Amino acid sequence: MSKANTSGTGTRTGVGQSPSPRLRALLDTIPAYVPGKPATSTGGGWKLSSNENPYPPLPGVLDAVTATAGNMNRYPDLHSTELTDRLAEHLAVPARHIAPGTGSSGLLQQLLQITTDPGDEVVYAWRSFESYPIVTRLFGARAVEVPLTDDEAHDLDAMAQAVTDRTRLVFVCTPNNPTGRALRRDVLEPFLDRLPADVVVVLDEAYVEFTSDPHGVDGVQLYRDRPNVVILRTFSKAYGLAGLRVGYAVAHEPVADALRRAAVPFGVSTVAQSAAIASLGRRTELMERVGELIAERGRVREALLEQGWTPPDSQANFVWLRLGRQTAAFAEHCLDAGVSVRPYGQDGVRVTIGDRQANDALLAAAGRFRRKSPVASHD
Ligand SMILES: *Cc1c(COP(=O)(O)O)cnc(C)c1O
Repeated sequence: MSKANTSGTGTRTGVGQSPSPRLRALLDTIPAYVPGKPATSTGGGWKLSSNENPYPPLPGVLDAVTATAGNMNRYPDLHSTELTDRLAEHLAVPARHIAPGTGSSGLLQQLLQITTDPGDEVVYAWRSFESYPIVTRLFGARAVEVPLTDDEAHDLDAMAQAVTDRTRLVFVCTPNNPTGRALRRDVLEPFLDRLPADVVVVLDEAYVEFTSDPHGVDGVQLYRDRPNVVILRTFSKAYGLAGLRVGYAVAHEPVADALRRAAVPFGVSTVAQSAAIASLGRRTELMERVGELIAERGRVREALLEQGWTPPDSQANFVWLRLGRQTAAFAEHCLDAGVSVRPYGQDGVRVTIGDRQANDALLAAAGRFRRKSPVASHD
């Protein structure tokens, strides 16, 4: 009917030839988030591929969720007021410094939204959390990836040198997913002080509760006199609420306020808010469980070392095996033994610490793999 399109691609002409929706070309360049596989299609075996918590909800949490679930015809409290107040008390920070979010994954997107314009740079270590390259590219920013050191830790010197006047955001994941290495305060503080004060630095502390190193970092102490530092925490890992999607950022007012404004309205559900509140009241039980997972982490690492592996010192609820070209073969071998682990390209495999039985199944599979192909390739 109209000739307006004749100078274009012509896809709008002709009956039945619908034009394809015009999407951003950069979507083709963005890697997809790879979820951990279940161990078997029937739900059997052991899923050690998503850093999930093997324990059921903390005492009282299921009751709190059940009590609030009936309100699902109502929108949640937009500002998660009670959760925010409880977190403020718990961390001894002002409530206006807290921005709740739909897991720290939601907050990562908000961080990009509030700091970067297309072409701005985001600096992070690699390999690290797989969401960083996704959110960075999704918002049109440029990813500047700084290789880990040979011993699987952040190379803070190289990261500081990678910061330019286009840098708007720096992600520091400690303990680092997937290698487990954590930064100590005596190296992290000088790094933070070295960066320009107008660059937002995110300390992603998804696993902070599992840190047993006495020199480990508590980001909440570091943010207090640094207005450009943002702490990201989540209820998904130690607290075992991965399925409810709730986390939070701690930051000074302009940043926290911007994060709240960029949030998807009503993203944190009423059940997620009530579960997080109830969980915060169960510190003793939480720390007991965390203690047991830390003990299991030590046991697993020792056994792997005895088998001849070289897992780095992990401060999180997982261990890292650098397997190079054997990465996929090892993951398949484990799956055959009913254990799902998380392979990363040709880098290595991350294994979540589960309950004792799951960890024993992993150790048996790792031992068999070792005997079958004794020379683990590192390239
Ligand atoms: C799991 C994880 C998160 C976020 O998890 P959410 O469930 O979205 O809170 C953030 N950062 C790292 C490093 C993680 O491993």
